[in-house]
This record gives sequence, structure tokens and C-alpha cells, in this order.
Amino acid sequence: MPLSTQLPTPMNAFTPLRTLLRAATLVAGFTLAGCATLDGYTATTPPSPAPLRGEFGAFVEGLWPEARAKGVSRATFDRAFAGIQPDPSVVALTRKQSEFVQPIWAYLNSAAAPERVAKGKAAAQKYADVLARIERQYGVPRSAVLGIWGMETNFGSFTGGKDVIRSLATLAHEGYRGDFFRNELVVALQILEERHIARDRMTGSWAGAMGQTQFMPSSFMKYAVDFDGDGRRDIWNSVPDALASTANYLKQHGWQPAAPWGVEVEMPHNFRFVHRRQSLAQWAQSGLKRAGGGALPASSAEAYLFFPAGVRGPAFLLTDNFIAIKAYNSSDAYALGVAHLGDRSVGGPALAGRWPVTEPHLTKQQTEEVQRRLNAMGFDNGDPDGRIGTKTREAVRRYQEKYNLIPDGYPTPALLERMRLASN
Ligand code: CA
Repeated sequence: MPLSTQLPTPMNAFTPLRTLLRAATLVAGFTLAGCATLDGYTATTPPSPAPLRGEFGAFVEGLWPEARAKGVSRATFDRAFAGIQPDPSVVALTRKQSEFVQPIWAYLNSAAAPERVAKGKAAAQKYADVLARIERQYGVPRSAVLGIWGMETNFGSFTGGKDVIRSLATLAHEGYRGDFFRNELVVALQILEERHIARDRMTGSWAGAMGQTQFMPSSFMKYAVDFDGDGRRDIWNSVPDALASTANYLKQHGWQPAAPWGVEVEMPHNFRFVHRRQSLAQWAQSGLKRAGGGALPASSAEAYLFFPAGVRGPAFLLTDNFIAIKAYNSSDAYALGVAHLGDRSVGGPALAGRWPVTEPHLTKQQTEEVQRRLNAMGFDNGDPDGRIGTKTREAVRRYQEKYNLIPDGYPTPALLERMRLASN
């Protein structure tokens, strides 16, 4: 039984048994998710809930004109917010994003941990037919779909038990990330209005991502598909719907059927960093080989070199399909986790390269210093946050190129020392 932070919604006198269960679960502090499927589908009008009071109530009421303009009825609106208060645990979670703070090898080790890979292989087998149909229809390989499913919910084992309306309302009320969550909240109301899911079953992550592959409400509206043919786009309970929706998402974000996401590579000795981006065939001519042995995939797809932990660690060539995965979550570590877990789930090998675990690494504070120094030298990489994201890697790479260093885009203590000395 999934635990839920959900507060009760107004009851209609539909099922006495359900009412009893609801009353019982109120005492226990959780709801029985499976017992509330009829909310939102019944023609019975529920009694009007009491309006929310206080500053949060005023915030919610302030959403009404926008919701109404988007076609949300007052009944849906009131039922959505009945009894809702901000969720303090959601506010606390806004300060955590593990893919940025863990070293990448720790992140990838847990992304493709043996038990998870075993689960992925079992899922690949169980849904082989569905995945084959998805590949044919969307041109997205099963590995990518499985990778996202595994990274998002461990293949459906944890889809998040938080009340999506409450989470989104909390984040919107906080003003977290500008208007992003406020907009998602209004779309969530539209989803309820269109009866894609019952109010009580609209659960998800603390950030409002829903279902097997964790779609935000706006992604649901744009990309969710009905693949099992029952007339509903049910990303919460239908694995075929959720996986096809994910493939559709990747396709709409530019997935190229003929290209891999990328490949782990081995650099030849005395490799010259002349090219930034060229076709896989040209990279092969430049002397790159598949890590662990073998030729690169024969493909005209363009790819760029990527060193997640610097030139002393594993190296990858990444195509635009990797960028499509990053549309799901912009972290390089996340996208690499998706790609690698997906490959492992369809029988691919473990990574061949060694991570530089014993090399000195920058602390968060030192990374911030590198970022500040890069900005001061004109290598813009946004607000210093102590996280090595795409912008910082790119700025480091340009700095390294300018000073004839190996342009691996990875800041180290030695690089910081160099910057400090140069500024004296
Ligand atoms: Ca369906």
C-alpha cells in the first residue's frame, strides 16, 4: 500500500465501504490509494469544500482566474485544493539534487547497481513485445526507454507517493524556480478537469513528476499517448502507455533512430585534441576505438567528446540523442545513468574505463571559486553554484584551449591553482 501525504478530499455518498475506509485511514494518517478511483468520475456533485484560509488560501484563490481561463471548472478547482496546506517536506527537498553533489562514479555505480541491472533485464524480457512495437512506431530503442524507466522509478517500483497538487502548490507558493511550478500546477488542474486521472490517485514525486516514467503535467499533456488502446493515457498504471509516452517524448526531442546515444571510447596515445565535434566515422579515423575493444559504431551521426571526470577517467563520444535524454533532466550524470543502465538492461557491458577515484578533487567551495574566476576572466558560466554542469564544463574547456591545456572541460585542484597563480 503506497503511503501518501494526501489530505482527504470531500466525500460523495458513493460507496459506504469507501467512506468507512477513508474514515479509518484518516486515523492512521494515510489513504488507501486503490480505494479512491471513483473520485472525479462520478456525476454526483460533492458538497462545496470550505475555502482555504490565510495567506496560502489567498495564494490558491489567486490561481483561479488563470485556471478558469484554461478551462478548469470551479468544482474541479475546489476539489483539487480541498484541505490542502503547504508540504514542509517538499520545501526541504528543494535543497537536494544528488546527481550534482555525488561524485559521478558513485552516482553511476548506484544507477547501474547489479540489482537494478537485473531488474532491467527482467523488464526487458517481460515487455519485449511492447518494446519492439514501441521501437517500430517511434524509432527509439528499448535501451533508452528502459534506461529512463529504471532511473526514474526503478522500473515502476517507486513512482512517488506525494499528492501532486499539494506538492506543486507548495513549490508554486514558494516561488521556487520562478513561474515553472505555478504553470505546472495549472496544467495539473487541466488534467483533473479532463479526467485523465482521479484526484486521489494523482500522486508523484515531491516535484510533481508523475507515473512510471515521471512526467511533469505539461509533459503529460504534450507527449503522453494511449498505447494499450483502452482510450486513456494512463502513465500511472499502464506500462505500455508510460513507455510509449517516454519514447514519444524522446522522439519529439530529436531522437535520431539511426544513431546511438553515444559510446564509451578509448583514446590513442598522443591523441590530438583538434576536433570538437565530427561524425563517428571521422572519430574512428582520428584513432578512437570502442572502450574494451572493437570499432566504433558505423554511423554518420556527429558526436562530441565528453570526459565526465576529466581526461584521466572514462571518455565518451555523445551524439544528439544524448541531448534528447537531457531534455528529460539536464544533468550529464543523469543522462549517462539512463544511457548506461539502458545498455546494461539489454545485455551491454559494464563501463571499461577506470574512474580517477584517488585523484584530488575540488570541493564544492573550490568549484565555486573556479566558477567565479572563470566568470571574471570572461568565460561566462552562470551564477557560481559549486556544481560542475554543462556551462561550467564548456567554460573550463574554452579556458583550457586558450592556454593550450588538454581541453577535457573538467576542473581540478591543479587547474584552480593555475588560475590563482595567474591572477597574482
Ligand atoms: Ca491506455
